[in-house]
Amino acid sequence: MERSIFVFAEQKDEEFKKVVYEAISLAKGFGDKLSIEVTVSAIGNNISNIAQKLKDYGADRINIVDDPSLTNYSPELYTDILVEQIKEAGAKIVILGSTSIGLDLAPRIGAKLEASVATDCINTELGDGEIIAFRSVYVGKAIAKIKFKKEPAILTLRTNVFPIIKKEGKGETVKKELGKDPFQTKTVIKEVIKSSKVKKDIEEVDIIVSGGRGMKGPENFSILEELAALLGGAIGASRSVVDAGWRGHEDQVGQTGKTVSPTLYIACGISGSIQHLAGMSSSKYIVAINKDPDAPIFKVADYGIIGNLFEVIPKLTEEIKKIVA
Ligand code: FAD
Repeated sequence: MERSIFVFAEQKDEEFKKVVYEAISLAKGFGDKLSIEVTVSAIGNNISNIAQKLKDYGADRINIVDDPSLTNYSPELYTDILVEQIKEAGAKIVILGSTSIGLDLAPRIGAKLEASVATDCINTELGDGEIIAFRSVYVGKAIAKIKFKKEPAILTLRTNVFPIIKKEGKGETVKKELGKDPFQTKTVIKEVIKSSKVKKDIEEVDIIVSGGRGMKGPENFSILEELAALLGGAIGASRSVVDAGWRGHEDQVGQTGKTVSPTLYIACGISGSIQHLAGMSSSKYIVAINKDPDAPIFKVADYGIIGNLFEVIPKLTEEIKKIVA
């Protein structure tokens, strides 16, 4: 059996998640060092064309299962397909994104293969040909170093942490049949109802402008929206804001929300509770705007502005307009 590094290429609406390119780039690096190939699995409906571009990031073999019954995510079907392909590929390492689907699939695959799983990895290294993963634990207060006792080592990667590197793989395409009756599964997802507003996914963007209780009300988020639009970013929120119904849960950053790692995170009127920091402290640059000089957010901020956000943000927006105009 040939050995390989295996990557699950998650897509939504016929577009691969950003973390897929990050995962293939990482896999290619491992593959080159271990002299083994990178197998990528793309599952969905109408995805055969888009799957070709995975070659540019290092995919040597692209397994495609393209079937109308795979339009919506099915935990059982996806698990069965991936387990079969991982076995066939003799995978040494399996990489998925730390997305809600990746986090749903990793333990299912791990259980079926009796393999070791590390989720939400923020770093990796190869020691003596064996992979070691690093993940943050205790709401970001410590970093755990994980060795895998069993193969394949299954990892999910936090988005925006690993670099995307273009490096061509062999790109051999293998079309595979679904091979299962989709109606034999215990659950069938009939419809996915999308949020009414078309918004950018905060897990994938480079810049997040995030608002907390200091925003005072939902109507005031318009000043954050103006700033975010100018910077090409998206809006995030603390849990207080989401609990108050000012923003949807999809915007929530933190322990019970999303974990984000943008290049720039601007926290406006957010105190910086441990639960909020758990979701954003790995951002590359953190800017905090808060009227309380003792707010804990300043402990993680690279730049802090002590002041009333209703005065600071419009001024900041005006200055940025001058630069980007
Ligand atoms: P506050 O703590 O009330 O802070 C508001 C800040 O705004 C203050 O620092 C204040 O100085 C500042 N401010 C007020 N007015 C102005 C102004 N005009 N100009 C400038 N600054 C101003 N929280 C999360 O965010 N995400 C999570 O995922 C999450 N999960 C949780 C899970 C559990 C199990 C628990 C127990 C809690 C969780 N929380 C989470 C809640 C968390 O503990 C905090 O309550 C929450 O993060 C506080 O939100 P906040 O910073 O917006 O509000």
